[in-house]
Amino acid sequence: MTEKDLGADLVVVGAGIVGLAHAWHAVRAGMTVVVVERDGYAVGASVRNFGHVCTTAQGGDVLPIALAAREHWLHLGRDAGLEVRRAGTVLVARSAAEQAVLNEFAEERGDAVRSLTPGEAARLLGLAPSGVVGALHLVQDLRVDAPTALPAIAAHLERLGVRFRWRTAVRDAGDGVVTTTRGRIRAGRTVLAVGHDVDRFFPDTADEHGLTRCRLRMLEVDAPGGAAVGPALLTGTSMLRYDGLTSQPSARRVREEVLEQHPALLEHVVNLMLTQRPDGRLVIGDTHHYGVTEDPFEDERSDELVLAEAARLLGADLVVRRRWRGVYASAPTPFLVAQPRDGVQVVSVTSGIGMTTALGLAERVLTSTLVAA
Ligand SMILES: Cc1cc2nc3c(=O)[nH]c(=O)nc-3n(C[C@H](O)[C@H](O)[C@H](O)COP(=O)(O)OP(=O)(O)OC[C@H]3O[C@@H](n4cnc5c(N)ncnc54)[C@H](O)[C@@H]3O)c2cc1C
Repeated sequence: MTEKDLGADLVVVGAGIVGLAHAWHAVRAGMTVVVVERDGYAVGASVRNFGHVCTTAQGGDVLPIALAAREHWLHLGRDAGLEVRRAGTVLVARSAAEQAVLNEFAEERGDAVRSLTPGEAARLLGLAPSGVVGALHLVQDLRVDAPTALPAIAAHLERLGVRFRWRTAVRDAGDGVVTTTRGRIRAGRTVLAVGHDVDRFFPDTADEHGLTRCRLRMLEVDAPGGAAVGPALLTGTSMLRYDGLTSQPSARRVREEVLEQHPALLEHVVNLMLTQRPDGRLVIGDTHHYGVTEDPFEDERSDELVLAEAARLLGADLVVRRRWRGVYASAPTPFLVAQPRDGVQVVSVTSGIGMTTALGLAERVLTSTLVAA
């Protein structure tokens, strides 16, 4: 097949959530759009995650992007016939220091959060985590089922007129041309949304931004007692990850506590959390290991640790049904937006929150309110 006659106002490279977010905003703005994806369907970070649109726990400049993305998810969900659950998140505290973070965060965020007793948290969750002394309901957070959401969004975009080139790898982009394994595509503008693979195209840009790879382990388990769990469940380790929580004064005490009592959680950079899939299974995770090159070997202790901690949290032995690895781009700043060549923008979420932010970030990139760094 030759692509010699194919052209578009915008060519998007990568059909993960970042690429699809750009395609969605662009086609709605009246642009012609082609999405080029090297695989037969999206199999990257965007289908391997919790589907947690974790709006509330974001802080600083990321929060308005996450809030905008939240509105776009609701809109896209309606238009694409895709379930976007407004179930929120329950963030549990299991120590006095964790409770102090909840209090500080609640004071700062007002109506975006609601304090819960352990009993209220259990009722909202549909299960009773052990050792809970208090909780917050992060009411704005959403949930989607990532493995089914991505194909549904791609199908919706096709109905809107976006053209997809699957199983087509991009080799280069510049001078108004995107060169693929199946030919060339004329491009008014190109957005390279290749996740953690920015260095495969523009190694200097990747190095300038300190881009590295973060690999994560995820497990799918049966829900204890067949529980129906509405909200996402976050725990004390989440207070060490999301900026809205890490910025609270008592977060330092939580870190010290984890270091004293469960140092392995820091060694494997565990964020103990879960969400439920439509078939009832719980997605639990996760661990984080960093390196510019993705290490191929898995340390069994990291899965054992997450399983043991999840079993302790849920007060039940857990039956594992599936396991997988995910990789995302990581850097000191939350986003990498750069223009290494005229007409070519690189966009990567470098903080593990692409499901939470991509729909807001893409809007800014396309309207160029976020200036290339
Ligand atoms: C285990 C895990 C859990 C997570 N949980 C959450 C969560 O709950 N909430 C949240 O907000 N975020 C979460 N994240 C982060 C989020 O998933 C990522 O930030 C987001 O998916 C990144 O999207 P992307 O489109 O940049 O990358 P990807 O989904 O990886 O997509 C990049 C695409 O580019 C394609 N590509 C690469 N090179 C080429 C080429 N040369 N030619 C054509 N195509 C190419 C790839 O095949 C791929 O499909 C999680 C991530 C992981 C790994």
